[in-house]
Amino acid sequence: MKVIRSIDNLRDELLQFNNQTIGYVPTMGFFHEGHLSLMNTARKETEIVVASIFVNPLQFGPHEDFEQYPRDEKRDLKLAKENGVDLLFMPDVNVMYPQESSITMQVVRRADVLCGRSRPGHFDGVVTVLTKLFNMIQPDKVYFGMKDAQQVAVVDGLITDLNFPIELVGLPTIREENGLAKSSRNVYLSEEETLEAKWLYRALINGRQLVVDGEKDPATIIDKVIQTIHQHTDGNIDYVELLSYPELQEVKLVNEQIILAIAVNFKRARLIDNLVFDKYGQIIERLK
Ligand code: AMP
Repeated sequence: MKVIRSIDNLRDELLQFNNQTIGYVPTMGFFHEGHLSLMNTARKETEIVVASIFVNPLQFGPHEDFEQYPRDEKRDLKLAKENGVDLLFMPDVNVMYPQESSITMQVVRRADVLCGRSRPGHFDGVVTVLTKLFNMIQPDKVYFGMKDAQQVAVVDGLITDLNFPIELVGLPTIREENGLAKSSRNVYLSEEETLEAKWLYRALINGRQLVVDGEKDPATIIDKVIQTIHQHTDGNIDYVELLSYPELQEVKLVNEQIILAIAVNFKRARLIDNLVFDKYGQIIERLK
């Protein structure tokens, strides 16, 4: 595995792989099994695997955790190597943003709901950095986790609108044994909160069960999820939403593929989770 920190080196290295298919895994590092599953799938499905670690300041709000975002470069290098990464791109902020930008990107659909509502500008930052990274790496396939399903929906819009010749893959959320979605931010949870946090997934499962049992009314399903979270955690609910997926529009009845998604604020961590399922409650784990 080669570790690369400059764009010139990245382009030089990529030249060698002429005509081979490239699978790309963008990340912010501090790897857990969620990241590793993306790398392993890319390894199976493409000839060359490129991963990047870049904590992108543009996608953090002024009061968010950019400075504190957990980092462990040494461990990440070892894990990337063990999980089949050929090139690991780790640029500094001044490599990615050497001067003040003359262009800004704005996401105008699929970004005014869920995390986009409570994190204004977040997805603008995500599409800006991804556009740069896609141009540098020119992958054939790009791998994202459905843990961040809104990100997958927004990137789907980016790839379509800007005609990137890239296939988008959304892979299943990897969870702890108790159901808690793995996240680099889980290290911020206290011991007690870690125990409570498993109820986020259980709340989603309770909501989905209503659909399996024939419930079609979004408000009833959302209520059940809210009730479960209130009953079992001290977290503050940021949102519980049920929307069409990937369009992320409100639905009157559950009659199509939908996302049931939650965000809950604990003392030091904001946790998100979701399930995407069809009108019968059948879970869709992988997109494409
Ligand atoms: P991050 O480093 O948090 O930006 O995440 C990098 C990629 O890993 C994104 O595509 C995430 O959706 C994905 N990811 C994060 N957590 C998980 C998880 N628990 N299961 C699957 N993918 C994940």
